[in-house]
Amino acid sequence: MKRIVLTGFRGTGKTEIGKALSSRLNSTFIDTDTLIEKKTGRSIPDIFHYEGEERFRSIERDVMAELPPADVIVSTGGGVVCDPKNMEHLRKNSTVILLVADIETVEERLLKKPRPPLTSLPLHEEIAEMMDRRRQNYYASLDFCVDTTETSPAVAAEKIIVLLKDGLPGKSQRNTALAFFKTGRLPPVPLQKLTDILSGPGRDPTTRIIGVAGYPCAHSRSPNLFNALFEHYQLNYHYTWFEDPELDEIMSIARAVDAKGLSVTIPFKQDIMEFIDEIDEHAAQAIGAVNTVVFACRTTIGYNTDWLGVRKPLVSLKGSKAVLLGAGGVAAGAAYALTDLEMEVTILNRTPENAKRLAERFGCRWGTWDEFDRINPDLVVNATPLGMQPDTRNPLKGEQLKKDMTVFDLVYTPPVTPLIEAARAKGCATITGLEMFIEQAREQFYLFFGIDVPAEKVRELLQ
Ligand code: NAP
Repeated sequence: MKRIVLTGFRGTGKTEIGKALSSRLNSTFIDTDTLIEKKTGRSIPDIFHYEGEERFRSIERDVMAELPPADVIVSTGGGVVCDPKNMEHLRKNSTVILLVADIETVEERLLKKPRPPLTSLPLHEEIAEMMDRRRQNYYASLDFCVDTTETSPAVAAEKIIVLLKDGLPGKSQRNTALAFFKTGRLPPVPLQKLTDILSGPGRDPTTRIIGVAGYPCAHSRSPNLFNALFEHYQLNYHYTWFEDPELDEIMSIARAVDAKGLSVTIPFKQDIMEFIDEIDEHAAQAIGAVNTVVFACRTTIGYNTDWLGVRKPLVSLKGSKAVLLGAGGVAAGAAYALTDLEMEVTILNRTPENAKRLAERFGCRWGTWDEFDRINPDLVVNATPLGMQPDTRNPLKGEQLKKDMTVFDLVYTPPVTPLIEAARAKGCATITGLEMFIEQAREQFYLFFGIDVPAEKVRELLQ
């Protein structure tokens, strides 16, 4: 039997449901908190009190790494999900069930069986605060979610057994989805893989789907990358293309297959916002675009990871004088990243009104391209499609580049663009669009699975 892992906040029933599952499935039950106490010979409150939380987390991490790989049901401590290393161990070849319950139910259960406080807040507020703080990690941890609010441990265990046996999408939903994928432009091998997952005789009902939503999106490098990562981390997921001109069709198919998430690309990064329940503050309030959607526990949350893809490679250039070329969708995320790094930013664009509009949103200067030389920036970020295959144009003339400049071209096809080539010839420091792609993909993977993939691993898999 594949390992079953239960995650969730304290009081959601992990231990009792774990025991009920173990007796129904006739397999060993492991409570990781008990394991930690056995290993150290101390109670968890004592470890916290005498050795501190950091020491506790380190012991916890060791325990997660040593869990048996199969034939066990594991109940985890409530904070386990916040450590990406734990998620890497726990998710490996396992099915993770997140248990949730409403605040009142958790409070009632904790009053009956008190635990050491996590904060100095009154119990009700502490539950609300901690659940909220860890929510993204809980959602990333789950393959399936079970609400235990009005359920006994035996009934919740039964629900889990049904989930493991049947999965979530019903037969008619799977057939609808398959018809969608068959009329799309999927190459034969991925189409066969999807057919096996959705209706093959050896169907594993716990295999989950995730994908890229766009039109067109056949060019996307995400499916190859994510599927290679699933293999590397032994995750029971398959990443595919949701390509269609109609976003509502894509969303209905994503729901039909109970997708765990979507990467969103052109032309849907703005339109998708109408289809989701909650929008992360970076994506919505500032950038106005979503490139990552997480479906979890009957809610849909939108994030933007593009801006982090621009920000991360530039952290050491905090406070620089920057010119941002372009004022489209990607430029909005880039402007947010550059201003977040306290840079003095001027947005230069072919259509000055668009530059003005974007600049006003982020408190930047703006102008037209012929102002570039006067500005003499430390950093140039190209957020236009100039130089993207098959276009061979360079957005700047070689003589406009100076050797003490850093040039970041967000275009990543080809890997070395005409701008990067010219900048290298001048002796500038250069950052290619691949770095943005790598960082935004790492962040997406973290939002989907709670695992922190090293940049080197992504780079290796993209080669
Ligand atoms: P977009 O919304 O269409 O915006 C394009 C911007 O470039 C607009 O400001 C437009 O100016 C300007 N522009 C277009 N053609 C131009 C030309 N011939 N001369 C001068 N300016 C021109 O596109 P986007 O979604 O922001 O994407 C921009 C680029 O980012 C893409 O082409 C892609 O290569 C890159 N990208 C990279 C990654 C990554 O992970 N590295 C991810 C996504 C996108 P106007 O306002 O005058 O129209």
